[in-house]
Amino acid sequence: METFAVAGLPEIRAGDDLAALVGERVDFEEGDVLCVASTVVSKAEGRKADLSAFPPSGRAEAIAARLESVTGDPKDPRFAQAVIEESKALLTEAPFLLAATRFGHITVNAGIDRSNVPGADLLLLPEDPSASAEHLSETLDVPVVVTDTSGRPFRYGQRGVAIGWASLPAARDWRGESDRDGRELGVTVQAVVDELAATANLVAGEGGGGTPAVVVRGWAFGDHAGSDDLFRREEDDVVREALEEWAFDG
Ligand code: GDP
Ligand code: MN
Ligand code: MN
Repeated sequence: METFAVAGLPEIRAGDDLAALVGERVDFEEGDVLCVASTVVSKAEGRKADLSAFPPSGRAEAIAARLESVTGDPKDPRFAQAVIEESKALLTEAPFLLAATRFGHITVNAGIDRSNVPGADLLLLPEDPSASAEHLSETLDVPVVVTDTSGRPFRYGQRGVAIGWASLPAARDWRGESDRDGRELGVTVQAVVDELAATANLVAGEGGGGTPAVVVRGWAFGDHAGSDDLFRREEDDVVREALEEWAFDG
């Protein structure tokens, strides 16, 4: 397997045809997967926003005041309002805002970015990243994963995760197959789109590299069952359930 960044993409603006910009720079081959940072999908879809577009509700004011006292850093209630508006639910309000987005991804601050956003305060995630992936995939005739950089529980540091995908299953189901001793695998469902996203993110980098699109070449899904389950259903998520009963008391 080989992984390389698409060179020479410009700063993406609202209305840009991202598929065309990528397509004119890559000769896709059978078996390629295109991984695209959500940042540029959002920019193309006009998801830049200013804080002034989010006049804070009383709830946002209260959340920001609490965060300010907990962290000791100034917090803008308009940012809290943006996170509320981009979320279906807030799983925690302190010591940080952990948000469930409408499309199922759970992440800090609803994935709203403040870096790599020239000319605006904020960049919101795409509204429906799998629909964005679908559009790119149909136009370019290649499987697509839309990625974001995200933290994770239990570990320091962030890594790439898939927030949308098209024309490949999200996961490779190893259940029913055997290990080297012939023991049947009972639980292993490999989240391949996350693994592809992490691979791509490693190449894309996080700063000013200007490489939001990455091609994975020579990787094969193989002869396995597939599944599109990635975002855990609420009734199936004991960590979420525990968080709902938990309150930060710092
Ligand atoms: P995120 O992980 O999707 O939130 O995106 P990042 O802000 O980490 O950016 C990922 C990669 O895309 C980095 O290499 C950035 O330099 C690059 N990038 C971000 N915006 C643009 C853009 O508009 N044009 C180009 N060419 N690169 C960009
Ligand atoms: Mn991001
Ligand atoms: Mn990133």
